[in-house]
Amino acid sequence: MKSIYINEDLEAIRASVREFVENEIVPNVEDWEEARAVPRELLDEMGKLGFFSLRIPEEYGGLGLGHMASLVFAEELGRITAGGVGVTILVHTDLATPYLTKFGSEELKDRWLPKFATGEMITAIGVTEPDAGSDVAALRTSAVRDGEGWRINGTKMFITNGGFADVVFIAARTNPDAKGSRGLSLLAVEKGTKGFSASRALDKMGWHSSNTAELLLDDVWVPDQNLIGEENRGFYYIMQNFQNERLVIGGSAVGEAQKAIELTVDYVRNRVAFGSPLWEKQTIRQRLAMLQAEVDAAREFAYRAAWMTDEGIDSVREVSELKALVGELSNKVLYNCVQFHGGMGYVAETAIERMYRDVRINSIGGGATEVMLEEVAKRL
Ligand SMILES: Cc1cc2nc3c(=O)[nH]c(=O)nc-3n(C[C@H](O)[C@H](O)[C@H](O)COP(=O)(O)OP(=O)(O)OC[C@H]3O[C@@H](n4cnc5c(N)ncnc54)[C@H](O)[C@@H]3O)c2cc1C
Repeated sequence: MKSIYINEDLEAIRASVREFVENEIVPNVEDWEEARAVPRELLDEMGKLGFFSLRIPEEYGGLGLGHMASLVFAEELGRITAGGVGVTILVHTDLATPYLTKFGSEELKDRWLPKFATGEMITAIGVTEPDAGSDVAALRTSAVRDGEGWRINGTKMFITNGGFADVVFIAARTNPDAKGSRGLSLLAVEKGTKGFSASRALDKMGWHSSNTAELLLDDVWVPDQNLIGEENRGFYYIMQNFQNERLVIGGSAVGEAQKAIELTVDYVRNRVAFGSPLWEKQTIRQRLAMLQAEVDAAREFAYRAAWMTDEGIDSVREVSELKALVGELSNKVLYNCVQFHGGMGYVAETAIERMYRDVRINSIGGGATEVMLEEVAKRL
């Protein structure tokens, strides 16, 4: 369906991502889910083909595009049918790397951004802790000045790509005396830094191919240069990039819901019960049509929220509405798609069963529905 927000350049991005997803990713997802890992070769290949450079400025080897490009990219990755693969990519391109792009020093950008663009280095973002998730301001990891650098101690929880990322942006408390959100900073920690380790990969309901790690920071020392932006401005940076994060989660959820409807329409057109294809039962095709209407509306709303963000119009309300809306909608769509697949929808490792498990996180991660609704309510 055409949208006034999507120009030819965005259509070209969509077409190239869709082709890559269909030919190079979808045929392999069952193996990767079973292996509980996305192969590094896939990330190398995507980097070489330029898929990681959409948001990286041109002077660092990227295309310097905006939120609309991220949204279309995420929407297409949502069609992979294995959320774990999509999130591995999106954490690198849109959840973590933008901290350096937007707030990092010229020195760090020169050093790392070209490698982030080609996939030579992969990133992660470490905000959540065992006792601080939705309430980011409650995080306890500390960073204390030590010589010409910072000494970091703490534990990070649920960090996507954490077990293999080359650079993790760690949120830490640099001013213990300042009120919750005011004393936080972001520090880049490289893989292999002494005292920094991924303690375990967490086993999950879904996203099986995604690496979700608990990170330990035991007297980790990083130089001053690894501070991202200004000291004690970390909370502000995190909140700003949460906009991007929620937009791409929204895009991905729309892509997942759309793909699930397509798979289900195909299935019910072929599955015969009571003498005719399930598609002939009005109740089934009308419910699918209503879900399609809701997904179409959500997609347009997502484009609008991304367009507003690109135009510099305050979009916190719209992005929060989007995240709440599609977090729930993608679950509703998959619930119904499993229903219309009957017993086949309940069989492990069919695409629809995997997607049902994978979308469950959409209403929890990156801002739970209730937290998003509070952001909306504040602005009503
Ligand atoms: C697979 C996976 C990958 C993740 N990847 C990353 C990552 O790469 N980096 C990272 O930093 N974090 C990551 N996270 C963390 C994720 O963002 C948090 O799980 C999420 O923010 C919720 O935090 P929490 O789990 O601590 O839940 P809590 O904050 O304990 O909240 C639990 C529930 O309480 C409700 N709730 C919370 N606050 C309110 C409120 N104010 N009003 C009403 N209800 C409320 C919500 O329903 C919420 O789901 C990941 C999590 C998972 C599961």
